[in-house]
Amino acid sequence: MTASLLERSLAAVWHPCTQMKHHETLPLVPVVRGEGPWLITEDGRRLLDGISSWWVNLFGHSNPRINAALRDQLERLEHVLLAGATHPPAVELAERLRALTDGELGHAFFASDGASATEIALKMSFHSWRNRGLTEKNRFLCVADGYHGETVGALAVTDVALFKDAYAPLVRQADTVPSPDARRANAGESAVDVARRAAAALEEKLAAESERIAAFIVEPLVQCAAGMAMHAPEYLRLARALCDRYGVHLICDEIAVGNGRTGTFFAHEQAGIRPDLLCLSKGISGGYLPLSIVLCRDDIYRAFYDDDTRRGFLHSHSYTGNPLACRAALATLDIFRDDDVLAANRERAALLGKFLQETFAAHPAVRHIRQRGMIAAFDVADAASDFPRRFFAAALEAGALLRPIGNTVYFMPPYVMNEPELRALVDAAAQALTTVTA
Ligand SMILES: *Cc1c(COP(=O)(O)O)cnc(C)c1O
Repeated sequence: MTASLLERSLAAVWHPCTQMKHHETLPLVPVVRGEGPWLITEDGRRLLDGISSWWVNLFGHSNPRINAALRDQLERLEHVLLAGATHPPAVELAERLRALTDGELGHAFFASDGASATEIALKMSFHSWRNRGLTEKNRFLCVADGYHGETVGALAVTDVALFKDAYAPLVRQADTVPSPDARRANAGESAVDVARRAAAALEEKLAAESERIAAFIVEPLVQCAAGMAMHAPEYLRLARALCDRYGVHLICDEIAVGNGRTGTFFAHEQAGIRPDLLCLSKGISGGYLPLSIVLCRDDIYRAFYDDDTRRGFLHSHSYTGNPLACRAALATLDIFRDDDVLAANRERAALLGKFLQETFAAHPAVRHIRQRGMIAAFDVADAASDFPRRFFAAALEAGALLRPIGNTVYFMPPYVMNEPELRALVDAAAQALTTVTA
C-alpha cells in the first residue's frame, strides 16, 4: 500500500509554527484542490477555509480571474531581476498603490514576505535618519503583544513571548508601549478611553527618548497575531500626531489588516491619517504568491538620493518584484475596482456579525465578541492550553478550517463566502466549541 500524503508529509516536511510531535495525535489536512472558499482534501472532504489560509486569500482559491492573469503573465515573463531592470507589472503595481494612498506614499520597495517588509521599513527609517546626520536615532518603539514577523530583525519589534523568548539572546529588543486593546477597558471606560490612555503612555516614551527613536511601528486597528486585539482608530490619530510632534517615523504594518480586511482598503484610513512607511503583504497578491511591498513618503525616498552609493538603500532579495506575484496583485486590485468589493463586504461582514451574536452571545464560556470588517473573534473563558489544537480538530470534523490563537476563536473568511457558507462556518465553530467544552 502506498503511503498517504499525510504520512509522507510528516516524514519529510517540517511544518511551520508547529511542535511536530503534536501531529502524533493532531490531524494534518491533506489539501489537493481549492475552489472558492472551499479546500478539498485527498479523501474528497470539503472544508470551509475560515481563516483565508493564514489571512492571505481574498477572492477564493483558484479564482478564475487571477488564474487567467497569471496564465497570461506566464507566457510573457516569469521573472527578471529588479536591479538595473524593470517590467510592466512592478511599475503598474507601484503606480496603483501610490494612487490608493492619494499620491502620499510615492515609492514602492518590493520583497517577498511580510517579515522582510518589516525589516525593510526598519532599515529604511534608520538609514534615512542616518543620511540626515541623525545617527542617534537607531531604536524602535513597538506595541505590547504586537506581531511583525519572526526573522531575527523582525522579532525585535514582535512582542509575542511564544515566538520570541527562545531567541532573546539573538534579538536587539525594541522598546514596548502599552497596547490600546479595547478589552483592557476598566469599568466605565470606552475603547476610545483605552486608546487615549495608551497614547498617553506613548507620548511619555516619545517625550523622554525621541532623540534616539527612529520609528514607531503599529498594526492599525487589529493586532491579529495577539488574538485579534482591536482598538479604536483614535489611537492611530493620536500616534500620528505624536510621531509628527517628536520627529519619529510612523510605520503602519498592514500586512494582515490591509487589502480591505477591516472595511477600508487600508486600515489607517479609518483614522484619517497616513503613515510614513506602509508594509503590505499577505492578501496583496490575492493569496497566490509571496509578495511584500513597503510604500514610503517622498521625503524618506529623497534622503537616499545621492551620488554616493553607500547613501542608497542597498537591500535586495532574489525574487524582489517577481512579475508573476505583481501580476496576481494587479488582478486582485482589478477585482476590488470592478466589483465594488468594499461595499459587498459591508453586507458580508454584517451577516457574519449577526450570526456570531445569535450563536454565541448567550454562550456561558464566550467573552468579548468583537469585529472589524471581515475579522471577527471571541474569547473562550477558562480555556486549557491545548484548546487551540482540540478546537482545530473539532472544527475539521464539523467541516471548517479554524485555528484559534490561545483562547481566541476568530474568523477571517475570504471575500467570496456567501450567506449559507458564512452560516455553515459559524455553525461549525459552535459545534467545535460544544465538543471542546463538553
Ligand atoms: C503575517 C504578518 C507578518 C509577517 O509576514 P510573513 O509573510 O509571515 O513573514 C508581519 N506583520 C503582520 C501584522 C502579520 O500579520
